[in-house]
This record gives sequence, C-alpha cells and structure tokens, in this order.
Amino acid sequence: MSKYQHILLAVDFFEHDDVVIARAQDLAVTYQAKLSIIHIVDSLPIVDAGYGGELPYQVDLANELMEIAKTKLIKLAEKLGVAEDSVWLEMGSAKLEIIRVAEEQNVDLIVVGSHGRHGLALLLGSTANSILHHAKCDVLAVRLPIE
Ligand code: AMP
Repeated sequence: MSKYQHILLAVDFFEHDDVVIARAQDLAVTYQAKLSIIHIVDSLPIVDAGYGGELPYQVDLANELMEIAKTKLIKLAEKLGVAEDSVWLEMGSAKLEIIRVAEEQNVDLIVVGSHGRHGLALLLGSTANSILHHAKCDVLAVRLPIE
C-alpha cells in the first residue's frame, strides 16, 4: 500500500463529522503525513439585477457564513495541530473546490464522510460521490451512521 504524504480532510461541520475528523487524524499519524483541512461555504444563488435590493443581504449573509466557518475551522485546526497555511476556506461548490485544492496542493488522499448535509443520495452523499468519481487521488469515504 502506498504511503500517503498529504491528507485533505473535508469537514462540513454537520452531524458525525467527529468520526471523519478522527479517521483523518489517525491516518495522518499512521502515515506521518501532512494534514490539511478544507471547508466550503456553499455559494448563494445569484440574485437577478432586477431584484437588486436583495443583493446586499445576500452579500452580508455570505460574509457572515464565511466568518462563522472561519471561527470553526481555526478552532478545529488548533485542536488537530494543523498550521494556518494548511487550512482552506472557500466559497462555491464543495465538490469542485475540494477537488481543485486537492490537485493544487498535491494531496494524495481526500477524507470525506459517506454523507452529510446533502443526505444519502445514491447511497453516498452527493459530495462524497462526486469526489470519488472525479478526484485524481485516492478518496476515503468514512461510513457514518444513518439516522
Ligand atoms: P454530502 O454530500 O453533503 O452528503 O457530504 C458528504 C461529505 O462530503 C461530508 O461528510 C464532508 O466530508 C464532505 N462535504 C460535504 N459538504 C462539504 C462542505 N461544504 N465543505 C467541506 N466538506 C464537505
């Protein structure tokens, strides 16, 4: 089995993410690999110019979500001993951003939960499923309890 050198943990801060976090940390220790963390704030729907009055609220909400996510990520990074330059907070599509950052940062293992906020579509959550199909590196989908 190959020795992983750079593991990317994708956290959605949803139920059972502690299981995914623990598995990624364990693997990083086992392989003495670098551990990075990523969270994506889903992009909000673009409001048509005709509804321009709503735009400031959208922008405020997006900024607010980014701030909340940043606080959570920093706390998690501190807990796991992950350096600030290995923490990625992006806005957009979770699957696309996770794959992009993994490629750009030469990640050789992405760790995700088997499902999360998007539920159990196609047995695997939609994000996990898409990453499994499109990532160029190995992907570990950690089986999470179904409730
Ligand atoms: P889902 O597709 O929402 O069922 O999520 C499956 C897994 O993909 C989660 O357990 C996370 O590991 C990862 N994931 C989903 N959404 C995000 C997100 N916004 N940011 C980072 N990771 C995510």
